Amino acid sequence: MPAPFDSTRRLLIKGIAAACLLSVTRVGFAATAQIAAVRVWPSSTYTRITLESNVSLSYKQFYLTNPNRLVIDIDDLSLNSTFRNISSLIKPEDPYIKQLRVGQFDNKTVRLVVELKQDINPNLFTLKPIAEFKNRLVIDLYPLQKNTLDDDPLFALLQEFNKGDLNDNDIPISQPVKKVNDKIVIVLDPGHGGEDPGAIGYYKTREKDVVLQIARRLRDLIRKEKAMTVHLTRNEDIFLPLRVRVEKARAFHADLFISIHADAFTKRSAKGSSAFALSTKGASSSAASYLAQTQNEADEIGGVSRSGDRYLDHTLLDLVQTTTTSNSLILGKEILSKMKRVNTLHKTQVETAGFAVLKAPDVASVLVETAFISNLNEEKKLKTANFQNQIAKAILDGIKSYITLRKN
Ligand SMILES: [Zn+2]
Repeated sequence: MPAPFDSTRRLLIKGIAAACLLSVTRVGFAATAQIAAVRVWPSSTYTRITLESNVSLSYKQFYLTNPNRLVIDIDDLSLNSTFRNISSLIKPEDPYIKQLRVGQFDNKTVRLVVELKQDINPNLFTLKPIAEFKNRLVIDLYPLQKNTLDDDPLFALLQEFNKGDLNDNDIPISQPVKKVNDKIVIVLDPGHGGEDPGAIGYYKTREKDVVLQIARRLRDLIRKEKAMTVHLTRNEDIFLPLRVRVEKARAFHADLFISIHADAFTKRSAKGSSAFALSTKGASSSAASYLAQTQNEADEIGGVSRSGDRYLDHTLLDLVQTTTTSNSLILGKEILSKMKRVNTLHKTQVETAGFAVLKAPDVASVLVETAFISNLNEEKKLKTANFQNQIAKAILDGIKSYITLRKN
């Protein structure tokens, strides 16, 4: 009777597979977990603690009061000096953490105690190795409610993102009824931040730092323009998921979204400025495709607990996006025409590729590569106030000439 034989055999195979898995797991745990690096990223919206380790950490978390503290017990970990050093990373001005303590709880467990300044909503998750990062345990501490008085929608957007609620189907296309004299709303997006440094130059210049400096300079210039108003997606060294950047622009009813970068390329000889717009149908060149791919990895490098990266594919959005994309191309072209006065152009045409950060269906969006941080000369220039100001001015002039064109 073939049937019973088959099912027995299947069971047997299953059993063997399970035994193999078990032994593999045991071997895995035999290599004791070691903390390789600890980082703390305080910001006004949330504080992130990252524990980087040679193997994936297994942990339990619980909350104790009086004083309020979050306790994280990590199994099969032996305490080393890197992890012990974590308490020295907390700055007195950290909005959420009073102090961090770490100790060997029993011979298999290391206990991390996060003593808090206020009630928080912890969000813990692990990340698999990517790029230069090993396994990571991420501890995000959010306040129970937004504690700033400004009108920044970032906290609400991050909450929605973490719940997985930034869902395409729920997103209304914003069609704000603009009056003739309404100000043009510009959202500037300094790329990367926090756990995601972006590209790093030969002299260790970090992309996330120079692009924030350029964005702030451009913001200051735009603030002097009566017909424009400006917001930044981030004004701190904070990691923001790509989707949250897009939705922040939409929450502000942005007319224009400009993501500012200074990436690396595989060849150190690559130099010059370039501008990119979204393409939903393949990239304009292999370099554009490479760049979009590396930029879209930002969420995995910076670390998100849930992927908010499910994008818009139904017809209505596509229609809106077609108009938006043609506006984005005009904006990119105008910016490039001004940038060539202050830097050589890497490509004279606006390039296109599937950049996740440019996917707001109703906001003209451009990604500007100010210069290549991987080029020794451009890395040096990127750090100077002079070049940063020139780039900021060129982008502003490009915006102005786009606005003039759109009015005619
Ligand atoms: Zn970048």
